[in-house]
Amino acid sequence: MAQKGAQILEMARKQVDLVARYLDVDQGILERIKSTKRELTVHFPVKMDDGSVRVFTGYRIQHDDSRGPFKGGIRYHPDVDLDEMRALAMWMTWKSAVVNIPFGGAKGGVKCNPKEMSLGELERLTRRFTWEISIVIGPDVDIPAPDVYTNPQVMAWIMDTYSVFQGHTVPGVVTGKPLELGGSVGRHEATGKGVVITTLKACEYLNLPIEGARVAIQGCGNVGSIAAQYFERVGARVIAISDSKGGLYNPNGLDLRAVMNCKRRYDRLLEDEVPGAEPVTNEELLELECDILVPAAIEGVITKENAPRVKAKVLVEGANGPTTPEADEILADKGVFVVPDILANAGGVVVSYFEWVQNLQELLWSEEEVATRLENILKRSFDEVVAIYEEKKVTMRMAAYILGVGRVLKAHMLRGIYP
Ligand code: NAD
Repeated sequence: MAQKGAQILEMARKQVDLVARYLDVDQGILERIKSTKRELTVHFPVKMDDGSVRVFTGYRIQHDDSRGPFKGGIRYHPDVDLDEMRALAMWMTWKSAVVNIPFGGAKGGVKCNPKEMSLGELERLTRRFTWEISIVIGPDVDIPAPDVYTNPQVMAWIMDTYSVFQGHTVPGVVTGKPLELGGSVGRHEATGKGVVITTLKACEYLNLPIEGARVAIQGCGNVGSIAAQYFERVGARVIAISDSKGGLYNPNGLDLRAVMNCKRRYDRLLEDEVPGAEPVTNEELLELECDILVPAAIEGVITKENAPRVKAKVLVEGANGPTTPEADEILADKGVFVVPDILANAGGVVVSYFEWVQNLQELLWSEEEVATRLENILKRSFDEVVAIYEEKKVTMRMAAYILGVGRVLKAHMLRGIYP
């Protein structure tokens, strides 16, 4: 995994070098934004249920706060790795900038296997980790959120622990909280919904009818499953969907209600439970005959090996970093229209921002208010990226980077260097 993390970081840094060609940039500032601003590594003890004490390693990596407080998720996973955290923190900075919300980028995590831990152990781990990183987080400084294998309950423990030490309740220290503790309506579905909003914009731009369009989705978690349901609502046909163990395929469109029931009941996708469905592997899914392909699971799945066989007309990146730079070039040559991750999956951070704003102002917005604001921001951001795509004749990813990295560089230049 450490090697994979190093590769992902190299990819993230290479993307910055590529975009620098289009921007009037000071080499020193470029070096600064290719590195992280602040990195905290902590080793901390946790009392386990059997009476033993285990020491865990965790990180909070802060990439950039030139445009506003650091913002980014906390991940609990056995593969949590420093270099991968650095890359993910960097991507958060560009994502906040592309959609023009006043946040920077950060990421954090603890190397652990939450699937093998009891609820009590997870709570003790979370509370101690929060205490360890409390010197660098805060509602005006750095605001964590859920990521892989962390959820609203974990956010509630973080909020509570931080608040205990402050002596008063501080809901704005994390987003993705339960609704009862100041979470925002619409946060749970924001990323999947944002994937569909940006896909609709892409289809409109390409004159591709969404009615009946064939969609293949890799991943059936928060992003994949919610995107699938919104795709159905707008008239598209979800012909394939998968989880880590494999997927289901029906060229005429899957019965999504049966798919979701099966996933809920058995925690896997079984062809016998979904009428007309046949099994498909994760590798096959990416190469299916379809109009829209949505990788919504993990990084680095579209590579130079399979990119030549991708048949979709539009690739919408629900996951972070699903396409390698080599694959990007191949897709561009083939004329595949890519909606890049920092735009396609930005719905989550946008509604996280809404949650933070509501917490600071002690307001509760309605579902309609959240939905309208989200749609406006994503549609405007899509139009801004397309304008650069047309003007500079670059790929959509490069256009999004020109917009996002450009905004961050501008902030650095305006602020200047102290002293
Ligand atoms: P999740 O844990 O809810 O779901 C992940 C899904 O991917 C699961 O269905 C899992 O079975 C599947 N999966 C795991 N390993 C796989 C593999 N090797 N091959 C195929 N499928 C595999 O996670 P999520 O929140 O849906 O996040 C998915 C992606 O979207 C991640 O890259 C995440 O960083 C990105 N993302 C999520 C959000 C958000 O708000 N949840 C926001 C922005 C980006």
